[in-house]
Amino acid sequence: MSEHTDRPAGTTAVTVLGLGPMGRALAAAFLDAGLHTTVWNRTPGRDGQLIARGAVPAPSPEEAVAASPLTVVCVVNYDASDAVLRQDAVTAALKGRTVVNLSADTPARARDTAEWAGRHGIRYLDGAIMTPTPTIGTDDAVFLHSGPAESYEEHRPVLAALGGSHTHLGEDPGRAAAYDIALLDIFWTAMAGYVHALAVARAEGVTGADLAPFAQGIAAILPPLFTEFAADSDAGTYSGELNPITSAVSTMGHVVHASEAHGIDASVMRVIEGQARRVVALGHGTDGYTRVAEVIGRR
Ligand code: NDP
Repeated sequence: MSEHTDRPAGTTAVTVLGLGPMGRALAAAFLDAGLHTTVWNRTPGRDGQLIARGAVPAPSPEEAVAASPLTVVCVVNYDASDAVLRQDAVTAALKGRTVVNLSADTPARARDTAEWAGRHGIRYLDGAIMTPTPTIGTDDAVFLHSGPAESYEEHRPVLAALGGSHTHLGEDPGRAAAYDIALLDIFWTAMAGYVHALAVARAEGVTGADLAPFAQGIAAILPPLFTEFAADSDAGTYSGELNPITSAVSTMGHVVHASEAHGIDASVMRVIEGQARRVVALGHGTDGYTRVAEVIGRR
């Protein structure tokens, strides 16, 4: 399903709508691969460096999409992509062409956009970019795609110009966004934990530099735990043999108390502690922390 792909031969045209940091990185990678690249952005003036490298600026989004069989959209969210794609002239110009929407949003918005595209004779692939702008065009970039396999296969050689790995996750157009949401959930809660830890450590006279090597040690524990927790959650075993949630909840309380003693907001940790206490109160105190996933997922 996932593959590292070779660069395209460089004979195809592509349009990029949206020239924020990510859109510019995508357009630059297409140019580096020798593709005829047309660009457009709502606010003029973001295309200077791209034009200097050979990009063709389009005066309007409808002229931009008419220039290529494939349009890649990368704007802040689907309100923004709707604001561009659902203009009558743009929708008409897209008929019979393919859109790959690499903007981030929810699975529901992705499915809604796919449904809209289908009604207007537009071939639609949804995607998500899982790595930051400096990775684009390199082996480190990670792209997820979903939607019709036939369209994905057709445009895979052009998408390969973006470098890295491209994984087609299936025909459901919301599936790439579903992965994106789950992975962003991990990223942002981890980052929230780290910035909170930096604040609490500083209040205790520990600098970020002092903490960082040990923080990396904590991070290194996580990859095997991710695999173990996934199997535990899929199987519904929630084993607490090595670390029951009654023990885990105690250490969560230490973080809350130490933070609040310094006047530092501990509301994120309070939520985490509260979820764990609920699991214990429901009679699952001997289970492992993964039981939280089952309890908060109950309807
Ligand atoms: P932003 O998320 O800030 O998006 C900026 C772009 O969105 C600009 O082109 C901006 O146009 C456009 N835009 C915003 N509102 C509208 C609107 N109403 N109509 C038309 N265009 C609009 O920056 P990025 O380029 O970094 O991100 C683009 C997408 O890529 C986002 O969905 C982001 O989550 C995703 N992404 C970004 C990563 C990164 O490292 N930057 C990593 C992974 C994913 P204007 O210039 O006119 O304001």
